[in-house]
Amino acid sequence: MAKATAYCTCEKCGKEFTKITYKQNSREARSWEAWAEANITECDDCQAARIQAARDEENKKSAEQAKMLHLPVLEGSPKQVAWAETIRVNAMDTLRESFARKREDAEGEDNEDLIKELLDEQQTFLWNVIGTLTSAAWWIDNRCSDSARMWTRKIAGKDEKAWNELQKAAKARIEGKVSPEASQADESVTEAEPETPVQPEAMPENQTHDGAAVIEITASKAVVARYEKNDDFRAVVKDAGFSWQYSTWRCIPDEKTGDAENVAADLGNRLLKAGFAVIFPSQEIMEKSVTGDFEPITKNWISVVGANKHFIITHVADDNMYKEAKRIPGSKWDRFSQGLLVPASSWAEIQDFARENEFKLTQGAQELLAQMGKASVVVNVADPASGSAKQFLNENGIIPDLMDEA
Ligand SMILES: [Zn+2]
Repeated sequence: MAKATAYCTCEKCGKEFTKITYKQNSREARSWEAWAEANITECDDCQAARIQAARDEENKKSAEQAKMLHLPVLEGSPKQVAWAETIRVNAMDTLRESFARKREDAEGEDNEDLIKELLDEQQTFLWNVIGTLTSAAWWIDNRCSDSARMWTRKIAGKDEKAWNELQKAAKARIEGKVSPEASQADESVTEAEPETPVQPEAMPENQTHDGAAVIEITASKAVVARYEKNDDFRAVVKDAGFSWQYSTWRCIPDEKTGDAENVAADLGNRLLKAGFAVIFPSQEIMEKSVTGDFEPITKNWISVVGANKHFIITHVADDNMYKEAKRIPGSKWDRFSQGLLVPASSWAEIQDFARENEFKLTQGAQELLAQMGKASVVVNVADPASGSAKQFLNENGIIPDLMDEA
Protein backbone atom coordinates (compact mmCIF):
# COMPACT_ATOMS: atom_id res chain seq x y z
CA MET A 1 0.00 0.00 0.00
CA ALA A 2 1.19 3.47 -0.81
CA LYS A 3 -0.10 6.64 0.81
CA ALA A 4 -1.11 9.37 -1.66
CA THR A 5 -1.22 12.98 -0.48
CA ALA A 6 -2.55 15.64 -2.82
CA TYR A 7 -2.00 19.34 -2.06
CA CYS A 8 -5.00 21.17 -3.42
CA THR A 9 -6.14 24.77 -3.51
CA CYS A 10 -9.79 25.69 -3.16
CA GLU A 11 -11.01 27.73 -6.09
CA LYS A 12 -13.70 29.33 -4.00
CA CYS A 13 -11.99 30.46 -0.80
CA GLY A 14 -8.33 30.08 -1.80
CA LYS A 15 -7.59 27.83 1.15
CA GLU A 16 -4.93 25.13 0.72
CA PHE A 17 -5.94 21.67 1.85
CA THR A 18 -4.72 18.10 1.60
CA LYS A 19 -6.52 14.99 0.41
CA ILE A 20 -5.21 11.63 1.46
CA THR A 21 -5.95 8.19 0.10
CA TYR A 22 -4.21 4.82 -0.21
CA LYS A 23 -3.33 3.10 -3.49
CA GLN A 24 -1.95 -0.32 -4.46
CA ASN A 25 1.56 0.95 -5.25
CA SER A 26 3.51 4.17 -5.38
CA ARG A 27 3.03 4.56 -9.15
CA GLU A 28 -0.74 4.62 -8.72
CA ALA A 29 -0.37 6.89 -5.69
CA ARG A 30 1.66 9.47 -7.67
CA SER A 31 -0.78 9.25 -10.54
CA TRP A 32 -3.76 9.87 -8.21
CA GLU A 33 -1.94 12.82 -6.56
CA ALA A 34 -1.46 14.44 -9.95
CA TRP A 35 -5.11 13.86 -10.86
CA ALA A 36 -6.38 15.10 -7.47
CA GLU A 37 -4.29 18.26 -7.48
CA ALA A 38 -5.64 19.12 -10.90
CA ASN A 39 -9.26 18.17 -10.27
CA ILE A 40 -10.20 18.61 -6.62
CA THR A 41 -10.79 22.32 -6.46
CA GLU A 42 -13.25 22.60 -3.60
CA CYS A 43 -12.38 22.30 0.09
CA ASP A 44 -14.62 20.40 2.50
CA ASP A 45 -16.00 23.60 4.03
CA CYS A 46 -16.95 25.06 0.66
CA GLN A 47 -18.47 21.76 -0.43
CA ALA A 48 -20.56 21.58 2.76
CA ALA A 49 -21.64 25.17 2.28
CA ARG A 50 -22.62 24.49 -1.35
CA ILE A 51 -24.71 21.45 -0.40
CA GLN A 52 -26.37 23.39 2.41
CA ALA A 53 -27.14 26.27 0.04
CA ALA A 54 -28.79 23.86 -2.42
CA ARG A 55 -30.83 22.41 0.44
CA ASP A 56 -31.82 25.90 1.61
CA GLU A 57 -32.88 26.78 -1.92
CA GLU A 58 -35.04 23.67 -2.14
CA ASN A 59 -36.59 24.44 1.24
CA LYS A 60 -37.26 28.01 0.18
CA LYS A 61 -39.02 26.85 -2.96
CA SER A 62 -41.10 24.45 -0.90
CA ALA A 63 -42.03 27.26 1.46
CA GLU A 64 -43.12 29.42 -1.47
CA GLN A 65 -45.15 26.56 -2.88
CA ALA A 66 -46.75 25.95 0.50
CA LYS A 67 -47.75 29.59 0.60
CA MET A 68 -49.31 29.36 -2.85
CA LEU A 69 -51.23 26.25 -1.86
CA HIS A 70 -52.49 28.06 1.27
CA LEU A 71 -51.01 25.44 3.53
CA PRO A 72 -50.78 26.40 7.19
CA VAL A 73 -47.54 27.74 8.59
CA LEU A 74 -45.52 25.01 10.27
CA GLU A 75 -44.43 25.23 13.90
CA GLY A 76 -40.90 24.44 15.06
CA SER A 77 -37.41 25.87 14.88
CA PRO A 78 -36.59 27.71 11.63
CA LYS A 79 -34.38 24.79 10.57
CA GLN A 80 -37.06 22.21 11.32
CA VAL A 81 -39.72 24.25 9.54
CA ALA A 82 -37.57 24.64 6.42
CA TRP A 83 -36.93 20.92 6.27
CA ALA A 84 -40.51 19.97 7.04
CA GLU A 85 -41.80 22.24 4.24
CA THR A 86 -39.89 20.16 1.73
CA ILE A 87 -41.09 16.89 3.21
CA ARG A 88 -44.68 18.14 3.14
CA VAL A 89 -44.48 19.28 -0.48
CA ASN A 90 -42.92 15.96 -1.52
CA ALA A 91 -45.56 14.01 0.36
CA MET A 92 -48.34 15.95 -1.35
CA ASP A 93 -46.70 15.45 -4.74
CA THR A 94 -46.47 11.71 -4.10
CA LEU A 95 -50.13 11.57 -3.12
CA ARG A 96 -51.27 13.81 -5.98
CA GLU A 97 -49.49 11.62 -8.52
CA SER A 98 -50.94 8.51 -6.98
CA PHE A 99 -54.48 9.93 -7.16
CA ALA A 100 -53.91 11.01 -10.74
CA ARG A 101 -52.84 7.48 -11.65
CA LYS A 102 -55.89 6.01 -9.94
CA ARG A 103 -58.14 8.44 -11.80
CA GLU A 104 -56.54 7.36 -15.05
CA ASP A 105 -57.00 3.72 -14.15
CA ALA A 106 -60.70 4.39 -13.60
CA GLU A 107 -61.15 5.71 -17.12
CA GLY A 108 -63.38 3.47 -19.18
CA GLU A 109 -64.60 1.53 -16.14
CA ASP A 110 -68.36 1.04 -15.78
CA ASN A 111 -68.49 3.16 -12.63
CA GLU A 112 -65.82 5.63 -13.73
CA ASP A 113 -67.70 8.67 -12.42
CA LEU A 114 -68.33 7.12 -9.04
CA ILE A 115 -64.72 6.00 -8.64
CA LYS A 116 -63.45 9.45 -9.53
CA GLU A 117 -65.86 11.04 -7.11
CA LEU A 118 -64.67 8.71 -4.34
CA LEU A 119 -61.06 9.50 -5.19
CA ASP A 120 -61.84 13.21 -4.99
CA GLU A 121 -63.38 12.66 -1.57
CA GLN A 122 -60.36 10.74 -0.37
CA GLN A 123 -57.95 13.35 -1.65
CA THR A 124 -59.96 16.18 -0.13
CA PHE A 125 -60.02 14.28 3.15
CA LEU A 126 -56.24 13.88 3.18
CA TRP A 127 -55.72 17.51 2.16
CA ASN A 128 -57.96 18.64 5.01
CA VAL A 129 -56.00 16.56 7.50
CA ILE A 130 -52.74 17.91 6.07
CA GLY A 131 -54.14 21.37 6.78
CA THR A 132 -54.17 20.46 10.48
CA LEU A 133 -50.67 18.92 10.61
CA THR A 134 -48.78 22.04 11.58
CA SER A 135 -46.00 20.47 13.64
CA ALA A 136 -42.73 20.45 11.71
CA ALA A 137 -41.59 17.62 13.99
CA TRP A 138 -44.48 15.43 12.82
CA TRP A 139 -43.40 15.75 9.17
CA ILE A 140 -39.78 15.11 10.04
CA ASP A 141 -40.61 12.06 12.18
CA ASN A 142 -42.64 10.60 9.34
CA ARG A 143 -40.32 11.51 6.47
CA CYS A 144 -39.31 7.92 5.70
CA SER A 145 -42.72 7.09 4.34
CA ASP A 146 -42.07 7.99 0.75
CA SER A 147 -44.83 5.91 -0.83
CA ALA A 148 -48.37 7.15 -1.35
CA ARG A 149 -49.66 4.17 0.62
CA MET A 150 -47.51 5.01 3.65
CA TRP A 151 -48.35 8.70 3.56
CA THR A 152 -52.05 7.89 3.28
CA ARG A 153 -51.81 5.59 6.29
CA LYS A 154 -49.96 8.16 8.38
CA ILE A 155 -52.04 11.17 7.39
CA ALA A 156 -55.42 9.40 7.49
CA GLY A 157 -54.32 7.86 10.80
CA LYS A 158 -54.54 11.30 12.36
CA ASP A 159 -58.32 11.15 11.92
CA GLU A 160 -58.71 7.41 11.73
CA LYS A 161 -62.35 7.14 12.72
CA ALA A 162 -63.53 9.55 10.03
CA TRP A 163 -61.25 7.93 7.45
CA ASN A 164 -62.61 4.45 8.24
CA GLU A 165 -66.15 5.75 7.88
CA LEU A 166 -65.25 7.30 4.56
CA GLN A 167 -63.76 4.01 3.35
CA LYS A 168 -66.75 2.05 4.55
CA ALA A 169 -69.16 4.40 2.81
CA ALA A 170 -67.06 4.26 -0.37
CA LYS A 171 -67.08 0.46 -0.35
CA ALA A 172 -70.83 0.39 0.11
CA ARG A 173 -71.35 2.81 -2.77
CA ILE A 174 -69.08 0.82 -5.06
CA GLU A 175 -71.08 -2.27 -4.22
CA GLY A 176 -74.25 -0.34 -4.95
CA LYS A 177 -75.68 -0.82 -1.49
CA VAL A 178 -76.46 2.79 -0.67
CA SER A 179 -76.54 6.12 -2.37
CA PRO A 180 -74.83 9.00 -0.61
CA GLU A 181 -78.17 10.68 -0.03
CA ALA A 182 -79.47 7.59 1.74
CA SER A 183 -76.61 7.58 4.20
CA GLN A 184 -77.07 11.29 4.64
CA ALA A 185 -80.73 10.75 5.47
CA ASP A 186 -79.81 7.99 7.93
CA GLU A 187 -77.37 10.23 9.63
CA SER A 188 -79.76 13.12 10.00
CA VAL A 189 -82.17 10.78 11.79
CA THR A 190 -79.66 9.56 14.33
CA GLU A 191 -77.97 12.89 14.81
CA ALA A 192 -78.89 14.93 17.83
CA GLU A 193 -80.84 18.10 17.21
CA PRO A 194 -78.53 21.08 16.91
CA GLU A 195 -78.36 23.16 20.07
CA THR A 196 -78.63 26.43 18.23
CA PRO A 197 -81.85 28.39 18.72
CA VAL A 198 -84.43 28.65 15.96
CA GLN A 199 -82.62 29.47 12.76
CA PRO A 200 -84.04 31.89 10.23
CA GLU A 201 -85.80 30.34 7.26
CA ALA A 202 -86.38 31.87 3.84
CA MET A 203 -89.06 30.63 1.44
CA PRO A 204 -88.71 31.19 -2.29
CA GLU A 205 -91.63 32.68 -4.21
CA ASN A 206 -91.99 29.48 -6.18
CA GLN A 207 -91.22 26.75 -3.74
CA THR A 208 -90.98 23.51 -5.68
CA HIS A 209 -89.52 21.26 -2.99
CA ASP A 210 -90.99 20.21 0.36
CA GLY A 211 -89.38 20.98 3.66
CA ALA A 212 -86.25 23.08 3.85
CA ALA A 213 -82.58 22.73 3.06
CA VAL A 214 -80.33 23.47 6.02
CA ILE A 215 -77.09 25.40 5.75
CA GLU A 216 -74.75 25.35 8.73
CA ILE A 217 -71.32 26.69 9.53
CA THR A 218 -69.24 24.33 11.65
CA ALA A 219 -66.90 25.32 14.47
CA SER A 220 -63.98 24.90 12.06
CA LYS A 221 -65.69 27.27 9.57
CA ALA A 222 -66.64 24.64 7.04
CA VAL A 223 -70.04 25.15 5.41
CA VAL A 224 -72.32 22.13 5.51
CA ALA A 225 -75.56 21.63 3.59
CA ARG A 226 -78.30 19.06 4.22
CA TYR A 227 -81.52 18.03 2.57
CA GLU A 228 -83.32 14.76 1.95
CA LYS A 229 -82.29 12.65 -1.03
CA ASN A 230 -82.89 14.81 -4.06
CA ASP A 231 -81.20 15.13 -7.46
CA ASP A 232 -81.92 18.85 -7.81
CA PHE A 233 -80.35 19.57 -4.42
CA ARG A 234 -77.33 17.47 -5.31
CA ALA A 235 -76.86 19.36 -8.59
CA VAL A 236 -77.07 22.77 -6.90
CA VAL A 237 -74.63 22.02 -4.10
CA LYS A 238 -72.14 20.36 -6.45
CA ASP A 239 -72.29 23.33 -8.77
CA ALA A 240 -71.69 25.63 -5.80
CA GLY A 241 -68.41 23.79 -5.18
CA PHE A 242 -69.56 21.50 -2.37
CA SER A 243 -68.32 17.92 -2.17
CA TRP A 244 -69.51 14.88 -0.29
CA GLN A 245 -67.33 14.44 2.79
CA TYR A 246 -67.85 12.91 6.22
CA SER A 247 -71.42 12.04 5.19
CA THR A 248 -72.50 15.60 4.37
CA TRP A 249 -72.19 18.11 1.56
CA ARG A 250 -69.33 20.30 2.64
CA CYS A 251 -67.31 23.26 1.42
CA ILE A 252 -64.09 24.44 3.04
CA PRO A 253 -63.80 28.18 2.35
CA ASP A 254 -60.62 29.43 0.74
CA GLU A 255 -59.35 32.43 -1.19
CA LYS A 256 -61.53 31.49 -4.15
CA THR A 257 -64.80 31.23 -2.23
CA GLY A 258 -64.47 34.00 0.31
CA ASP A 259 -65.26 33.29 3.96
CA ALA A 260 -67.81 30.82 5.32
CA GLU A 261 -70.51 33.51 5.50
CA ASN A 262 -70.02 34.26 1.82
CA VAL A 263 -70.19 30.58 0.89
CA ALA A 264 -73.38 30.16 2.92
CA ALA A 265 -74.97 33.25 1.36
CA ASP A 266 -74.05 32.10 -2.15
CA LEU A 267 -75.40 28.60 -1.64
CA GLY A 268 -78.57 29.92 -0.02
CA ASN A 269 -79.16 32.17 -2.99
CA ARG A 270 -78.71 29.28 -5.43
CA LEU A 271 -81.04 27.02 -3.44
CA LEU A 272 -83.74 29.68 -3.18
CA LYS A 273 -83.57 30.24 -6.95
CA ALA A 274 -83.89 26.47 -7.44
CA GLY A 275 -87.12 26.48 -5.41
CA PHE A 276 -85.86 25.26 -2.04
CA ALA A 277 -86.82 26.81 1.27
CA VAL A 278 -83.59 27.43 3.15
CA ILE A 279 -82.73 27.50 6.83
CA PHE A 280 -79.74 29.81 7.27
CA PRO A 281 -77.02 29.86 9.93
CA SER A 282 -77.93 33.45 10.86
CA GLN A 283 -80.30 36.30 10.11
CA GLU A 284 -77.45 38.34 8.68
CA ILE A 285 -76.44 35.65 6.20
CA MET A 286 -80.05 35.18 5.15
CA GLU A 287 -80.40 38.88 4.41
CA LYS A 288 -77.19 38.91 2.39
CA SER A 289 -78.32 35.84 0.49
CA VAL A 290 -81.75 37.19 -0.33
CA THR A 291 -80.58 40.66 -1.31
CA GLY A 292 -77.61 39.40 -3.29
CA ASP A 293 -75.13 41.18 -1.03
CA PHE A 294 -72.32 38.63 -1.43
CA GLU A 295 -69.47 37.78 -3.77
CA PRO A 296 -70.84 35.14 -6.18
CA ILE A 297 -68.68 32.05 -6.23
CA THR A 298 -67.24 31.20 -9.61
CA LYS A 299 -65.21 28.24 -10.76
CA ASN A 300 -63.42 30.43 -13.27
CA TRP A 301 -60.07 31.10 -11.63
CA ILE A 302 -56.55 31.78 -12.68
CA SER A 303 -53.95 31.02 -10.05
CA VAL A 304 -50.23 30.35 -9.88
CA VAL A 305 -48.52 27.00 -9.36
CA GLY A 306 -45.06 25.56 -9.20
CA ALA A 307 -41.68 26.80 -8.13
CA ASN A 308 -40.99 28.17 -11.62
CA LYS A 309 -44.30 30.04 -11.66
CA HIS A 310 -46.93 29.08 -14.16
CA PHE A 311 -50.41 30.44 -14.36
CA ILE A 312 -53.10 27.84 -14.19
CA ILE A 313 -56.59 28.21 -15.64
CA THR A 314 -58.72 25.85 -13.62
CA HIS A 315 -62.23 25.82 -14.98
CA VAL A 316 -62.68 25.94 -18.71
CA ALA A 317 -66.39 25.54 -19.11
CA ASP A 318 -66.92 25.06 -22.84
CA ASP A 319 -65.10 24.05 -26.00
CA ASN A 320 -64.76 27.55 -27.39
CA MET A 321 -63.24 28.86 -24.20
CA TYR A 322 -60.94 25.85 -24.11
CA LYS A 323 -59.83 26.46 -27.69
CA GLU A 324 -59.18 30.08 -26.87
CA ALA A 325 -57.16 29.17 -23.79
CA LYS A 326 -55.22 26.58 -25.77
CA ARG A 327 -54.12 29.31 -28.19
CA ILE A 328 -52.21 31.11 -25.42
CA PRO A 329 -48.52 30.54 -26.20
CA GLY A 330 -47.04 27.66 -24.22
CA SER A 331 -50.31 26.51 -22.67
CA LYS A 332 -50.72 22.83 -21.96
CA TRP A 333 -53.15 20.61 -20.09
CA ASP A 334 -51.97 19.52 -16.67
CA ARG A 335 -53.65 16.40 -15.42
CA PHE A 336 -52.47 16.77 -11.82
CA SER A 337 -54.11 20.10 -11.29
CA GLN A 338 -56.84 19.48 -13.91
CA GLY A 339 -56.25 22.80 -15.60
CA LEU A 340 -54.34 24.55 -18.34
CA LEU A 341 -50.79 25.50 -17.41
CA VAL A 342 -49.56 28.72 -18.98
CA PRO A 343 -45.99 30.01 -18.67
CA ALA A 344 -45.51 33.36 -16.93
CA SER A 345 -44.17 34.80 -20.20
CA SER A 346 -47.71 34.70 -21.62
CA TRP A 347 -48.90 37.14 -18.95
CA ALA A 348 -50.42 39.59 -21.42
CA GLU A 349 -52.55 36.86 -23.03
CA ILE A 350 -53.62 35.70 -19.56
CA GLN A 351 -54.77 39.22 -18.78
CA ASP A 352 -56.85 39.36 -21.97
CA PHE A 353 -58.28 35.91 -21.44
CA ALA A 354 -59.27 36.73 -17.86
CA ARG A 355 -61.01 39.92 -18.92
CA GLU A 356 -62.86 38.46 -21.89
CA ASN A 357 -64.06 35.35 -20.10
CA GLU A 358 -64.66 36.87 -16.67
CA PHE A 359 -62.08 34.80 -14.85
CA LYS A 360 -60.91 35.90 -11.42
CA LEU A 361 -57.27 36.10 -10.42
CA THR A 362 -55.91 34.86 -7.12
CA GLN A 363 -53.63 37.11 -5.11
CA GLY A 364 -50.66 35.09 -6.39
CA ALA A 365 -51.76 35.46 -10.01
CA GLN A 366 -52.23 39.21 -9.58
CA GLU A 367 -48.76 39.50 -8.10
CA LEU A 368 -47.21 37.50 -10.93
CA LEU A 369 -49.05 39.61 -13.51
CA ALA A 370 -47.84 42.80 -11.86
CA GLN A 371 -44.32 41.46 -11.71
CA MET A 372 -44.29 40.36 -15.36
CA GLY A 373 -46.08 43.49 -16.51
CA LYS A 374 -43.70 45.90 -14.83
CA ALA A 375 -41.48 46.20 -17.87
CA SER A 376 -44.35 47.09 -20.16
CA VAL A 377 -47.00 49.19 -18.46
CA VAL A 378 -50.53 48.65 -19.70
CA VAL A 379 -52.70 51.75 -19.41
CA ASN A 380 -56.26 52.30 -20.44
CA VAL A 381 -56.09 55.66 -22.11
CA ALA A 382 -59.51 57.24 -22.36
CA ASP A 383 -60.47 58.79 -25.67
CA PRO A 384 -60.00 62.53 -25.46
CA ALA A 385 -63.28 64.38 -25.68
CA SER A 386 -62.57 66.53 -28.70
CA GLY A 387 -60.33 66.54 -31.71
CA SER A 388 -58.37 69.49 -30.46
CA ALA A 389 -57.74 67.83 -27.14
CA LYS A 390 -56.56 64.76 -29.00
CA GLN A 391 -54.20 66.84 -31.02
CA PHE A 392 -53.00 68.57 -27.89
CA LEU A 393 -52.29 65.22 -26.29
CA ASN A 394 -50.53 63.93 -29.33
CA GLU A 395 -48.34 66.99 -29.48
CA ASN A 396 -47.55 67.19 -25.81
CA GLY A 397 -47.70 63.54 -24.83
CA ILE A 398 -49.70 64.34 -21.71
CA ILE A 399 -51.77 61.64 -20.05
CA PRO A 400 -55.50 62.43 -19.69
CA ASP A 401 -55.42 62.72 -15.87
CA LEU A 402 -53.38 65.89 -16.18
CA MET A 403 -55.75 67.54 -18.63
CA ASP A 404 -57.67 69.49 -15.98
CA GLU A 405 -54.53 71.05 -14.63
CA ALA A 406 -53.12 71.85 -18.07
ZN1 LIG B 1 -12.90 26.55 0.15
